[in-house]
Amino acid sequence: MDNFSFSLRNMNLKVTPKRLAILDILMEETVYLSPEEIWGKMKRRFRKIGLPTVYRNLEELSEGNIISKVNHPNRKLYYYLCKNQSHHHHFICLSCRKVEDINFCAAKKINKEVKTKLKGKVISHILQVNGLCKTCSKKSDI
Ligand SMILES: [Zn+2]
Ligand SMILES: [Zn+2]
Ligand SMILES: [Zn+2]
Repeated sequence: MDNFSFSLRNMNLKVTPKRLAILDILMEETVYLSPEEIWGKMKRRFRKIGLPTVYRNLEELSEGNIISKVNHPNRKLYYYLCKNQSHHHHFICLSCRKVEDINFCAAKKINKEVKTKLKGKVISHILQVNGLCKTCSKKSDI
């Protein structure tokens, strides 16, 4: 919990019981969750909490880079909390929703390409790889 309070303050986000509860819920998961699922778990702790409050807090936490947003091909929104603080990307399983880290980034090559070919400058990049994890890809072979 202390670590979370630290990251929240670092991102100029107020430490509130609701934000800490969301982080707590996501911390326990190795899969990405939808706002509705998080809301379901939040209702056990905050009886009167509404879905819009959960949406708003998730958005603020993801803008503060404390949690990450998953861009699912089904266009639904999901969130994930990664403990890995260094720059990396995610491999998400479309079947079981597991998230795994890819500790490789092609940014240097991309930045160079943009600079030399497009004569532009990269400010940031987003990369997420979608697929099937080891377990799920084995299942789909059968
Ligand atoms: Zn899977
Ligand atoms: Zn990660
Ligand atoms: Zn990167």
